[in-house]
Amino acid sequence: MINVAEINAMLKKMKYPKHCIYCEGIDESVENPVHHPSYEITPACNLNCIFCYSKVAEVKGSAPKPGYYGTLEPKAITISQYGEPFVVGTEKVVELIRKLRERFGEVRIDIQTNGTLLDPSKLGGEADIVMISLDAGSREKYKEITGADFFERVVGNIKQMAEQTYTVVRTVFMPGVNDGELENIAKIASIADELFLQPLSVYRENRRLLEMIEIERVESIGEFLEAAYRLLKITEVRIPGCLLLNIRSFLEKYDIGDLMLVKRDAFGSVPIMQREWRFRF
Ligand code: SF4
Repeated sequence: MINVAEINAMLKKMKYPKHCIYCEGIDESVENPVHHPSYEITPACNLNCIFCYSKVAEVKGSAPKPGYYGTLEPKAITISQYGEPFVVGTEKVVELIRKLRERFGEVRIDIQTNGTLLDPSKLGGEADIVMISLDAGSREKYKEITGADFFERVVGNIKQMAEQTYTVVRTVFMPGVNDGELENIAKIASIADELFLQPLSVYRENRRLLEMIEIERVESIGEFLEAAYRLLKITEVRIPGCLLLNIRSFLEKYDIGDLMLVKRDAFGSVPIMQREWRFRF
């Protein structure tokens, strides 16, 4: 039985994920926050994850064209929010990082990747943060979720990247699909710097996912926080900064018991890019 007072203490102490620093999502003064800038390479991906929003965006025609999106005075840039950046090869991604640094000077570069195609010996310490998705803690479940057999390769790449730069394991909490995997994922993530635990966004186009998830549990903030609390005993868990900020403002008015009963709307409609296209290298 988890004591809610301990979850409350966890929420008070928890730091923002490193990736969220400089994002408007953790700036209380911004009314309609948007994610910090990104450079989109391609919406294409070599996996077929059951929860993928990038594929939904492609089907709906809202996937962004390649290029840079957001302010021209960035403090952090994400490569990339859609698709898998390393389908173009690690050398090309390194080239892009160098061009972005040349153009913007001191800027933090975060890469979001599925970790299957990157070559750690070529990427080295070029990026400031490498966020590698891992939604299963076993080979079988990995295949079921992604449609491909790369579990060992991804775990190996997490290990190698963690030796070279700030490395984050990014896991989507999918009750009914991967709850039994989380402890193993956390053990793997303990060789990295953070486990970034994300709540699931559900799109009606992800039919297979809809058949597998337990939607009541997906929508429960309490379930999500209990999972984060459990995993904190194994590794450094962080939750999305914007969510943590909202939770903290909720807790200024209500108590933790109320928070544990809150349901969020997990359904998204069309994933859209909220920042303006600026240029392409
Ligand atoms: S999780 Fe929220 S705060 Fe963090 S980078 Fe994404 S939008 Fe910003």
